[in-house]
Amino acid sequence: MPFARSTTAPAFRDAWAWLGKEAERFREEVRDLPPSPRATRTGLQAELQARFDLEGGGELAHVVPGVARLLREGSVHVTSPRYLGLFNPTVLEAGILGDVLAALYNLQLAAWSHAPAATEMERAVLDRLRDALGLPAQDSQANFTTGGNEANLSGVLAALAHRFPGWRVRGIRALPARPALYLSGEAHHSMAKVVRMTGLGTESLRPVPVGQDFAMDVESLHRMIREDLRDGWSPFMVVATAGTTGTGAVDPLREVADVASSHGLWLHVDAAWGGAAVLSPTLKPLLAGIEKADSVTWDAHKWLAVPMGAGMFFCRHRDAVVRAFSVSTGYMPPDATDGIPDAYVSTPQWSRRAIGLKLFMAMAHLGEVGYARLIEAQAAMGERLRELLLREGWLVLNDTRLPVVCFTHERIRQKGTDPDRVLEALYRRGKVWISAVTLPTGERALRACVTSYLTDEKDLRVLLDELDEVLHELRPS
Ligand SMILES: *Cc1c(COP(=O)(O)O)cnc(C)c1O
Repeated sequence: MPFARSTTAPAFRDAWAWLGKEAERFREEVRDLPPSPRATRTGLQAELQARFDLEGGGELAHVVPGVARLLREGSVHVTSPRYLGLFNPTVLEAGILGDVLAALYNLQLAAWSHAPAATEMERAVLDRLRDALGLPAQDSQANFTTGGNEANLSGVLAALAHRFPGWRVRGIRALPARPALYLSGEAHHSMAKVVRMTGLGTESLRPVPVGQDFAMDVESLHRMIREDLRDGWSPFMVVATAGTTGTGAVDPLREVADVASSHGLWLHVDAAWGGAAVLSPTLKPLLAGIEKADSVTWDAHKWLAVPMGAGMFFCRHRDAVVRAFSVSTGYMPPDATDGIPDAYVSTPQWSRRAIGLKLFMAMAHLGEVGYARLIEAQAAMGERLRELLLREGWLVLNDTRLPVVCFTHERIRQKGTDPDRVLEALYRRGKVWISAVTLPTGERALRACVTSYLTDEKDLRVLLDELDEVLHELRPS
């Protein structure tokens, strides 16, 4: 007997219809929803208990709206144009629909032969983006990842496979000396996890000081490599960041590439957020030098505005990627098509969702031309925010053309007010969402990042008015 086939069909249809309406409603209402949740743990647990029967189950007609309501009330609404927080975007409609199709067909992208159409769609979009980065088509390899974390992991594994021939069999015991990996003090902390996952240990991370622009100081990089060589370390890799999480700083990629190549080190560029700048003719020069990278991390679920999780890993050396990830099994299909290895032999994943389908659909809808406009419009909103803050007496503490602004106020500085208190007050008021960051100078600052392509002047006005109110609230009465 098939399991409950005929009874689920109409319920499924009704749930879809409900969801279609909710999609429309939510997209319209999200701007005015409180961006931060008022939920508490005990409250949520009580609601889950009361509303859902995890033992006996319930009707879809009840489960779907019930879950949606709780998600609406109990989430930070990162798709709101008034969420100016971490790099979580308002998602493009085409991207949402792409994720729905991936789930509907439950596409399995471990091997080309199981999902030829979706795999070719992924490759078509990766090829274009590889060209935009300026990496060569010949002998290079690109794959979708769950996010930047997995792409950074892939970069380190490919570098190890490339640099140390015995690594594949003997692991880090094959390394001749203590391995050293250079990155700026502002690099993403996923690298700390990566060096633990790869068995290198956090000691292998050699943080290079940053200059006043919060970008890697190349003189220091050069000096540290020379000193480490003298002291018997084995330098093998530099990770440059193109668009740091805290302040949007871009390490000087050309100079870093020159230093890396003069010592034979692998250059990985972590452009998880900032990579999108290469699609804009006006912003692309900021990332000049990225074409010299051995490997690149670029997240589609950040500035390319598709749903999580969608990262990308690009590598100039296909052979290194294959050395890092290939296996042979008796139960999988042949592992390459036209010389391009399947995902299960060229990525850390095995079973693999059609991660790139949503990006293919977003590209097929907007085109690279539309993406260029989206990115430039968002950067322009960042500029506008910087202007407005300065005009209204705030102090802007970072300098970048990417749309992330770190700022404070004389009154916050003078009173020694913790910017986190400003945040608490903003969250309590519930109209906008920004974050805070500790700058390389040690100062704690407020941080607003335009992560939504829908953020407009009115939303910036709301942010400024809220900041103004909070600043007054914090005044001694
Ligand atoms: C977001 C980010 C990461 C981590 O990527 P996930 O997609 O969150 O795994 C790594 N590096 C930088 C520079 C980032 O902005």
